[in-house]
Amino acid sequence: MIKRIIPLMLSCLLLIGCAQRGANEPAQQTVFAMDTVMSLSVYDGARSDALRDAESELSRLDALLDRGAEGSAVHELNTAGAVHSEELAALLTAAAQIARATGGAFDPTIAPVLALWGFGPGGGNYRVPAEDELAAALSAVGMGRVIIDGADISLPQGVQIDLGGIAKGYAGARVRDIFAEHGVTSAIIDLGGDVCLLGGKSDGSPWRVAVRDPADSESFLGVLEARDRFIVTSGVYERYFEENGVRYHHIIDPATGYPAASGLVSVSVVCADGPWADALATAVSVLGTQRALALREQLRETLPFEFIALTDGGTVYYTDGLAETFAPNSESGYDYALLS
Ligand code: ADP
Ligand code: MG
Repeated sequence: MIKRIIPLMLSCLLLIGCAQRGANEPAQQTVFAMDTVMSLSVYDGARSDALRDAESELSRLDALLDRGAEGSAVHELNTAGAVHSEELAALLTAAAQIARATGGAFDPTIAPVLALWGFGPGGGNYRVPAEDELAAALSAVGMGRVIIDGADISLPQGVQIDLGGIAKGYAGARVRDIFAEHGVTSAIIDLGGDVCLLGGKSDGSPWRVAVRDPADSESFLGVLEARDRFIVTSGVYERYFEENGVRYHHIIDPATGYPAASGLVSVSVVCADGPWADALATAVSVLGTQRALALREQLRETLPFEFIALTDGGTVYYTDGLAETFAPNSESGYDYALLS
């Protein structure tokens, strides 16, 4: 049954078991925002009101956080060097906390380095920067440089912000909260492969989510059972260019200024918090499995998370908190190993 459903699904994470005969049919809505096709499925509560409000919230967030959109708070901050926004200040405060926790592996002030590689807004001018250019751009990186005073945010000369590694997680959390306000207890918020599960299925059982194989759109790494969780995937295959036979991708290691070279091809983080899940998926891609395990240990009390990571050597690692809920796909051709 899984095999038959998979080819029909397009997103990074494939949702299965939600269209089974006999299960109640969800109210659904497709939204295009944040350069992504998003798909919202609501199973109970005031379903059409919930979907309507979620859709307008997603366009509002797009207009707030898209650094490429003139008039957005992030665009204003990057061009004028200052902006007044309570909401952006709160999100940047969380981002700064995540930057500290990850030792800078996740850091939205990586923007000037992204721009050098051609991964800035608009994109396109892909090239390998010279060492001195990289060094100059890196000297402006560090969330500690961002000044947040209440709702007033300002950036020193040369500092730029890119929220591409956290915006969708924040958007997912906002949509979840709006759904909850409308009495929804069972929903799937799929923001183009970054998934937020609200509650479980109508029959009380957990959602079942297939984690896509980045190398084969018809296959999957395994099936995860979860409720009330964000499952956010970062992949170095999402955006890249090639020069002289070398592939350069869009997740940058702020320690080097180069694309992350941790050996991880795809990372899915499972976490109860949206912005953290999203940012941690980026951070784990930079850190690699061993340092990611140390980070998981460090956050065990405050922000527990688990992850599934595919290496370039063809091994799927998954953390021991998923031992009972992640079922490897024995036909995927990969090796599987539990991390503890
Ligand atoms: P995607 O859903 O596009 O794969 P990710 O969550 O993997 O997004 O985040 C990648 C995006 O985050 C990049 O396109 C860029 O905008 C930004 N980014 C890249 N490297 C970093 C980093 N080290 N810290 C924070 N943001 C980053
Ligand atoms: Mg991310």
